[in-house]
Amino acid sequence: MVFIWHNILFFGITTLITLTLTPIYAYFVGFDKVDWAIFWFMSAATMMATTFGYHRLFAHRAFKARTSVVLWNLFWGAAAFEQSALTWPSQHRDHHRFTDTDRDPYNIKRGFFYAHMGWFLFDTHTVDYDNVKDLQANKWCALQHKFWIWIAVFAGFGVPLAVGLLTGHFWGALFLGVAARFVFVHQCVFLINSACHMFGKATYKGTETARDSWVCALLTNGEGYHNYHHAFPNDYRNGVRWYHWDPTKWTIHLLSLFGMTYDLKRTPEIQIMQARVEQERTDLQLAFGAEAHPKMREALQNVTAQYERLRASLKHWEEAIVEYKKLKQAQATEGMHHAGEQLETARRNFFKAYKQWSESANQGSSLL
Ligand SMILES: [Zn+2]
Ligand SMILES: [Zn+2]
Repeated sequence: MVFIWHNILFFGITTLITLTLTPIYAYFVGFDKVDWAIFWFMSAATMMATTFGYHRLFAHRAFKARTSVVLWNLFWGAAAFEQSALTWPSQHRDHHRFTDTDRDPYNIKRGFFYAHMGWFLFDTHTVDYDNVKDLQANKWCALQHKFWIWIAVFAGFGVPLAVGLLTGHFWGALFLGVAARFVFVHQCVFLINSACHMFGKATYKGTETARDSWVCALLTNGEGYHNYHHAFPNDYRNGVRWYHWDPTKWTIHLLSLFGMTYDLKRTPEIQIMQARVEQERTDLQLAFGAEAHPKMREALQNVTAQYERLRASLKHWEEAIVEYKKLKQAQATEGMHHAGEQLETARRNFFKAYKQWSESANQGSSLL
């Protein structure tokens, strides 16, 4: 174990102020609308620059953005005090490539606290910038990396404190807009590396320890659907269902309507459903495998039969997609209409089979 003093001091002091001076000031003086406005603006800007900018735009290239959007995210991303737009994505790409191994910078196998904060307080990491050559080639990202600490101090401290000073709210800005905001945003964001690799649902196959947690999604602009994200890291969405809380996705989509973001990457629905079915099957095999009761065997047979039907419907759906794409490429307008209908029917049939599969799986599970 080593002590990374600059990190220990930074996180120690901001946390200490938030736990002592901030509540004391709130009790004796109180925070008003301006103090809270600074707090919420800074929280929203830096959190969004982390999830929208550092994560989905820079680390995963899940969409493209106009220069003004890139610059906004580089500025407020620096203010989040989570390293530069080259270092953060480089470590994050390693996290995805080497998940749960020694080369994963925030390896959850070393415990909750290590993945949460220990990795940068008590450990050193060699950052291999070879995995961010594409970002190095972007002059704005390279420039932000070079002057990161200056931009971070200016945007993270200078801006809120200057606004506080000009409006006669210096202490409010310091205790709430700077100190408490750092702690709030950091703790929420760090949960993705710790809690989202420990608690929640494994919805999709092949995602190691990553879990979906709607609670974490609420705290992090939608990043909590981390199991989905590990299954399909280049998708600009993390919350893929319409009712999922994912303001990062909504912002990317909204900006695309004005041409500010473009080339949004989406995983085809069929791939998502394939990964989902396989995970559900694994869960059922695990749950049923332990039981030797004849009733269980019957339930397992039923589920297996449903699974075969489900696989067949997936195959039909896949074939319909291939056929449709072929005609589209050949620009065969006549056949395309028919193929489109077939595709829709195949898709509907899959979801019918999926519903039956879910029902038989639930019946089987109720016997456990
Ligand atoms: Zn992860
Ligand atoms: Zn990621």
